[in-house]
Amino acid sequence: MAGLDRNFTDELRARLSIVDIVSRRVPLVKKGQNYWGCCPFHNEKTPSFSVNEDKGFYHCFGCGEHGDIISFVMKSENVDFKTAITELAAAAGLKMPDYKPKSPDQVAREESYFEIINNAAQVYQKKLFEENGAHALEYIRRRGFSDDMIKKYRIGYAPKNNIIANTFVNIKQDNLLATGLCRRGEYGMYDFFRDKLMFPIFNARGQIVAFSGRSLDGSEPKYINTTDTELFHKRRTIFGFNFARDAIHRANRSIVVEGQIDAIQMQCNGFPETVAPLGTALTEDHISLLCKANRNITFCFDGDSAGQKAAARACDIMMSFLRDASDVRFAFVSGGKDPDEVLKTSGTVAMKKIIDDAVPLVDFLWNLANAGFTVSTPNGRTQAEKFLKQKIAKITDVTLRSEYEHEYDSRMFNEWHKWKKNKNNVPKIELPQIDAITKNTLIFITNKYPEIAEQYADFLATLNIDLDGDVADMNLDKTAAEKYIVSLKLQKYLEKLHIQRKELVVKKLSGDNVDTDIIALDTKIHDANEKLEKLISM
Ligand SMILES: [Zn+2]
Repeated sequence: MAGLDRNFTDELRARLSIVDIVSRRVPLVKKGQNYWGCCPFHNEKTPSFSVNEDKGFYHCFGCGEHGDIISFVMKSENVDFKTAITELAAAAGLKMPDYKPKSPDQVAREESYFEIINNAAQVYQKKLFEENGAHALEYIRRRGFSDDMIKKYRIGYAPKNNIIANTFVNIKQDNLLATGLCRRGEYGMYDFFRDKLMFPIFNARGQIVAFSGRSLDGSEPKYINTTDTELFHKRRTIFGFNFARDAIHRANRSIVVEGQIDAIQMQCNGFPETVAPLGTALTEDHISLLCKANRNITFCFDGDSAGQKAAARACDIMMSFLRDASDVRFAFVSGGKDPDEVLKTSGTVAMKKIIDDAVPLVDFLWNLANAGFTVSTPNGRTQAEKFLKQKIAKITDVTLRSEYEHEYDSRMFNEWHKWKKNKNNVPKIELPQIDAITKNTLIFITNKYPEIAEQYADFLATLNIDLDGDVADMNLDKTAAEKYIVSLKLQKYLEKLHIQRKELVVKKLSGDNVDTDIIALDTKIHDANEKLEKLISM
């Protein structure tokens, strides 16, 4: 099992939160960057066992135990590697891969495929600059590709005749077939790509594994890709990733666009961290690969309904990959344009604005719920609530999941249920000033009902006004007088809460995470308002 596909163990590490797995055995508390608990590997009363979610490691400062999610399960449950992997795969909802070690034959075979494909790319590159490739060259230049870009991305042209089948006659036919470059027909071998503009598809190590061919005569489909081969799995390959990897690290995020030309233009015009899935459908494997590089992802889709749908799908897939340090956003290019057109017509600055304006996932999901259901009706609200619940349930980080629940609870309360209050026509409560009338009323109460003034002395002292002196008689009995002071106290309290809330909003705008505090404050404001309303209507 030692040779178990590294992709699979990486996949487990990417999908599962080490904090979740460790928490099943050891209660953890977050302090600073790390989570802390009492070490399960030695006897201790004060926590010296730390878990780092981002790095996926645990370390005990007491006994020196150290490892990742897999070794934690092996050591804490005293099981072997295979059992640990099987258990974790079940927790991640993944099927165990059939493990087959690569034989020397297979390694040699793969090497020969790489060579064939690389040679084919060279043939295509050469053909682009020959006479019968002129229309392809003209097209790619019109799309804004400089010669440097054509060279870097190794763009080429596959002519109408069967150039590969005819040129690569010395290569074993089975090998040619295995690369997906040729097919075998009734009259012998023929090329899969004919009269196509050729975009090589690279693996993460920068080797060409397949091609994407664009039709040049307007025929559909616009793009055909090499069908899956031993070297190439469409669902697991992200276009442009090999070029973007370092930039993703530097920019601390990736940008995902819909098409490969968009990806290339973005990479060459100020957004080197851009990639694209092959074909429109984003898969879990794509996200998993990206998350391994960086968990901050900005999706940039066309503003049309297909783009909206793709974004909703991306959001759905993203949920199980969310961690507290993930910054996932959605940007839309409006007006029937794509990033390539925006860059060409309005430049990098306009594109930057679109990326900067991207909506955070928490808001995007909320917008989806509001757009997808009629939230002005109880039934619609119920559907929307269920929709949100179902999405949130996919978040594996327990703390993060409960934060999402609180956030949406508060939004449901403040946005969906607000109309009920308006309907009851509750009077708006003005925040109090200590004006002359209030002051005179308080002086009257202090003189006439000193026991009430005594009871609320602490509060009255906070008003910082002089309550000595004489005022005209008022029509205020003892009950009304007490009610007056209690309502004033509530109003003052509300005033204070609103000031605190404003301060928190300023903090939030400057990037602090104070969402929980705001929610807590909103609850207090709500409660105080309710008390005040009750008091006034009594
Ligand atoms: Zn220890």
